[in-house]
Amino acid sequence: MKVDVLTLFPEMFDGVFGASILGKAQTKGLVSLGATNFRNYATNKHNTVDDAPYGGGGGMVLKPDPIFAAVEDVLEQRGEAASMKPPRIILMCPQGETFTQKKAEELVQEDHLIFICGHYEGYDERIREFLVTDELSIGDYVLTGGELPAMVAIDSIVRLIPGVLGNETSAVTDSFSTGLLEYPHYTRPPEFRGMKVPDMLLSGHHLNIEAWRREQSLLRTLERRPEMLETADLTDKERIWLKKIRSNRKHSTE
Ligand code: SAM
Repeated sequence: MKVDVLTLFPEMFDGVFGASILGKAQTKGLVSLGATNFRNYATNKHNTVDDAPYGGGGGMVLKPDPIFAAVEDVLEQRGEAASMKPPRIILMCPQGETFTQKKAEELVQEDHLIFICGHYEGYDERIREFLVTDELSIGDYVLTGGELPAMVAIDSIVRLIPGVLGNETSAVTDSFSTGLLEYPHYTRPPEFRGMKVPDMLLSGHHLNIEAWRREQSLLRTLERRPEMLETADLTDKERIWLKKIRSNRKHSTE
């Protein structure tokens, strides 16, 4: 998989792309990550990539020409002919679709992703209309630039590439992958300052442990994100069990 980021601050990606899982994924040859400064594609004397908005008002707007040129050059550098599957060109923007685990699972199927990181007031609308395939937001708040949001998305996508995580099952049971929040974890020591690990986890009985984890996962989802249970893949027995818990809780608070 190839991932390119167009940014005014490529140096921000040095640490993130070189460390931990992303660094290892590159060393293993499972992904190629690149950061390109789209200021290099400015054609004016002062290398400016932004300009005042038509119609007046505050803030500067990112010009279309350097960003279109940067995308075209990245495609050429990556040796992508027009006949090849076109990349997903993703605009980081607070007005975009909210990024989710489901979106990460969709994007990891692609061969090439190009992320565009904005700054200032925003982008010339023609970038949105005629260049990008997706607009992604990482949540309902506004950051200074698209770099941190792009890092968040790239990390969650790359860790899903088969072979990237040491333990293949760890992504499979992660919160949201299953439609539920993940069960609680414990490690050694079995007792710490009087706080004990649940007996079940020390029992060595794998089937019972699996059942306990499923139950904990359901309970945690019920407590923290009950709306997720509406679409989660549950058995009839689990639905009845959760209904009973809900009604017991309701009665105990009345
Ligand atoms: N004026 C814009 C608006 O109201 O939608 C906000 C611009 S923001 C200061 C500058 C850039 O940061 C955006 O173009 C985008 O690339 C990035 N950004 C800020 N918040 C974001 C978020 N929640 N998700 C994704 N990108 C974000």
